[in-house]
Amino acid sequence: MADILRFADKLGPAKIIQVYEPTIDLKAVLVIDNIAMGPAVGGIRMALDVSIEECMRLARSMTLKNAAAGLSHGGGKTVVFADSKVPKPEKERLIRALAGALRNFPEYVMGPDMGTDEECMAWIKDEINNRNVTGLPAEAGGIPIDQIGATAWGIRHAIEVALPYCNLPEGFTLAKARLAVQGFGAVGKNAARFLVDHAAVLVGVADSQGSLYDADGLDVNKLIRLKDAGKSVIDYPGGQKADRDAIVGFDCDIWIPAARPDVVNESNMQLLKAKLVVEGANIPITAGAEKYLYEQGVLCIPDFIANAGSVICAGMEYRGKIESEALEVIQDKIRTNTRLVLEESRNKKILPREAAMSLAVARVEKAMSFKRWSIY
Ligand code: NAD
Repeated sequence: MADILRFADKLGPAKIIQVYEPTIDLKAVLVIDNIAMGPAVGGIRMALDVSIEECMRLARSMTLKNAAAGLSHGGGKTVVFADSKVPKPEKERLIRALAGALRNFPEYVMGPDMGTDEECMAWIKDEINNRNVTGLPAEAGGIPIDQIGATAWGIRHAIEVALPYCNLPEGFTLAKARLAVQGFGAVGKNAARFLVDHAAVLVGVADSQGSLYDADGLDVNKLIRLKDAGKSVIDYPGGQKADRDAIVGFDCDIWIPAARPDVVNESNMQLLKAKLVVEGANIPITAGAEKYLYEQGVLCIPDFIANAGSVICAGMEYRGKIESEALEVIQDKIRTNTRLVLEESRNKKILPREAAMSLAVARVEKAMSFKRWSIY
C-alpha cells in the first residue's frame, strides 16, 4: 500500500486503475491525477518500457499543463505495456479491450500519445461510442492537431508576446528576427512556416540526421517538401551542413527546440547565442541549464506554457468545436498565459518556469477549494 501511495501529495493522484486481460495479454494502467478543474485529459502511451512511475509523472504534468493553459480539465495518463509496432489486428484488439475496460471512467478523456495515433482513437470511439476521446481523425469528427500545426500556432504567438521582454534592441520585432529550429516535424516545421510568414528569417534547422545554417535565410517550403518526401534537412541544396547538435550554437535571435528532451544541458548551455528560447519540445532544457540561461539574460518560455496548443486543441475538440475556433482559442490562451508568466517572472525576479508553476498550482488549488472532496 505504502508503495503505490508514495507519489501521493496534495494534488493527487486521485485514482490509479489497473487494466488487465490475460487472454490477449493486455496490461495497462490509468492514472487520474486531479480532476478538480474538470475531466482529465491525457494521452495513451504504448511502449514496452513504460512504468507506473512514468504514468504518474506524465499525469501530473497534464494537470499542470491544462491548468496553466486555463482549461477546465484535469490531468490523466494511460500507459499500455506493449510494443506499439505489433501487427495492426493485435494492436486494435488491445486498444478496443482497453477502451471497454475504461468505458465507465467518463472523468478521463482519452487522446493519442507515443505509440498511439488518430486511428487508435477512432477504434476507441467506435468501441465506446461517446465523446470522451480526442485526437480523432477529421473523418470521425476530430481536429487533425499535427496537420494544422496547433502546437506551432501557439509557439508563434508566445514568441510575439515574449519578444518585448527579451534582452534585444529597442523596437526589435518578429520581422527580420533570425530563427533556428531544432527538429523539423509537426511542431518544428509548422513553427518555422508560421514565423517566416511573419517575415522572420529561418537561419538554422536540424533533424535527426544533421543541421543546416544559412545566415541569408533558408527556404522553409523547400525544406518542408524535402521532409515530406522522406528526406533530411541536410539534403537541402546550399547552406552549411553541420553535425546534428551544432544547431545549439547557431547564431540567431530565437531558438526553438522541437525534438528531444534535455538537448540543452550543463555540457552545452554556454554555446547558446539566442536571446529567446521557446520550448516546443517537452523538457528540452535541464533545470540547471534553464537557471544558467536565465542568469545570462536568455528568456526561456517553459514547455507547458509554450507548447500547450495541442491540449487546448484537444479541449476544443472535446467540446465539439471546429478548427478555426480551436486556433482562435489557442492564440488567445497562449498569448494571455505567456504575458502573465513573464510579468510575474519580471516582477518577482523568478524564472518563467517558477512563475508558470505557481500560476498552474494556484489555479488547481482554487478549483480544489470549491469541491466537497478536494481532487475529484
Ligand atoms: P515529430 O516526430 O513530428 O518530429 C520530430 C523531429 O525531430 C523530426 O524532424 C526528427 O528528425 C527530429 N529529431 C529527432 N531527434 C532529433 C535530435 N536529436 N536532434 C534534432 N532533431 C531531432 O515530433 P513532433 O510532434 O514535432 O514533436 C516534437 C517534440 O514536441 C516532442 O518532444 C513532443 O513531445 C513535443 N510536443 C509535440 C506536440 C505536438 O502537438 N505534436 C505537442 C507538445 C509537445
